[in-house]
Amino acid sequence: MTFNKVLDNVSIYEAGKPIELVVREYGIGENDIVKLASNENPYGTCQTVVDAIARKACSAYVYPDDSMYELKEALASKYSVSDKNIIIGAGSDQIIEFCVHGKCSANSKVLMAKTTFAMYEIYSKQTGATILKTPSDEHVLDEFREIYKKEGADIIFLCIPNNPLGECLDANEVYKFLDEVDSDTLVILDGAYQEYAKYKDGAKEIVPSEVIAKYPNVIYLGTFSKAYALGGMRVGYGIASEEIIKTLHKLRPPFNITTLSLEGAIEALKHEKYVSMCISKNFEEMKRYEEYAINKGFKYIPSYTNFITIYLDGYVSKQIAQKLLEKGVIVRDMTGYGFNAIRITIGTNEQNTKVFKVLNTILEK
Ligand SMILES: *Cc1c(COP(=O)(O)O)cnc(C)c1O
Repeated sequence: MTFNKVLDNVSIYEAGKPIELVVREYGIGENDIVKLASNENPYGTCQTVVDAIARKACSAYVYPDDSMYELKEALASKYSVSDKNIIIGAGSDQIIEFCVHGKCSANSKVLMAKTTFAMYEIYSKQTGATILKTPSDEHVLDEFREIYKKEGADIIFLCIPNNPLGECLDANEVYKFLDEVDSDTLVILDGAYQEYAKYKDGAKEIVPSEVIAKYPNVIYLGTFSKAYALGGMRVGYGIASEEIIKTLHKLRPPFNITTLSLEGAIEALKHEKYVSMCISKNFEEMKRYEEYAINKGFKYIPSYTNFITIYLDGYVSKQIAQKLLEKGVIVRDMTGYGFNAIRITIGTNEQNTKVFKVLNTILEK
């Protein structure tokens, strides 16, 4: 059968391995598996949020409020914007899809850092657009400027902080860059890990209300999947000018998040203290990874997120990731990105202790 030719160029996204697969393939008990490959919040969903979702389960037969009024109001108040500046997606992934499909066609160009969130390229290629990447793996804005000046771009992606590397641009550098971008270029500021970055360093904080007041061509993306511990609920949001939001709504299917997801997200926003507690523990635990890497003589990328990328000089990262998997520790091998490194989500104290223990036995051999 023939399909749209542009799909010949599209690769399939490889998600972090699920616990179920490790149980099936390696016969390890579910409770002995440490899953640190998808940057989920390892402390789990806040109990009050779990209870709210459970209570809502008896409404599973009802479509959700398609206007998502309550969630939008809560987000509008959190970010000091109007509900007309907000769109909700099945994960912020879906908003990325709306943006790319709304803006791009086969002669479009999309500019991004060399090593960044894989879905930017996948959605872009679905439209047949050309991908432009900076030479450096991490975000270097002067490289973005140079390419943009020469080639132009319909969309520019800035992942702040960047997944899978963990580095983060300063907000003022970003704002300065936005000043130089043409009003017909859509800039997507992906803030999936902003909660972590601004906790570690206030200079990283992007303020969506300021951004959209000044730049009608910019969209800020946030998600409930990481710090808010609702990855399984699939809720994300975009904040932008009314013009952008109105257009993106043309691409949104009805009821694009579930009744339970909506309830979970609304409730999660009422428990910011829980989120701060998780973030503070994240950075305490991250120090242990930094010390571990230093002790082993491994380089790592200083991270503004809930994961850390560690180079495994002297070893083959793919083999190490496989051996970890066989012992029930799921991490992300970075070979596919051209790195001899692994990306590990920062787990709980107990999980991280297990990672170090297992890693020690593997590295000794
Ligand atoms: C996790 C992640 C997202 C979106 O996740 P959703 O679960 O779809 O909200 C977006 N961008 C980056 C960089 C991410 O790491």
